[in-house]
Amino acid sequence: MSGKKKPQKRFYKKRVDLLRLIDKIKLWPSRKGILHGIRIIEKHGDYATITTHCNRTFIANNSRTSRAARWIRNKWFFGVCKECGVPDWKLEKYSVTHFKRHHGSLLLRHDKDYK
Ligand SMILES: [Zn+2]
Repeated sequence: MSGKKKPQKRFYKKRVDLLRLIDKIKLWPSRKGILHGIRIIEKHGDYATITTHCNRTFIANNSRTSRAARWIRNKWFFGVCKECGVPDWKLEKYSVTHFKRHHGSLLLRHDKDYK
């Protein structure tokens, strides 16, 4: 590790698929506003089963207008799950992620940064 390098700014389009996005950022805001780390994400078409590092499993719908999608885009959260142990670098990366209407990746397969 080369010390304190600033995380690269990332841009995503506002209408990016929620499931693609959380697959990328591996973070999930719970209903109570706690940010969890995602351990497993299993996609089943329009929804996914998500398992967090603190072993909670739930279903997420691939909706761009859902509460979770809005919270992620606005980067709203009240706290970070202690059990999940989300590392600081991940939160930093999240904090420099931007959601723009006309600029950024949709995380489609032909996009460069879609792994
Ligand atoms: Zn958690």
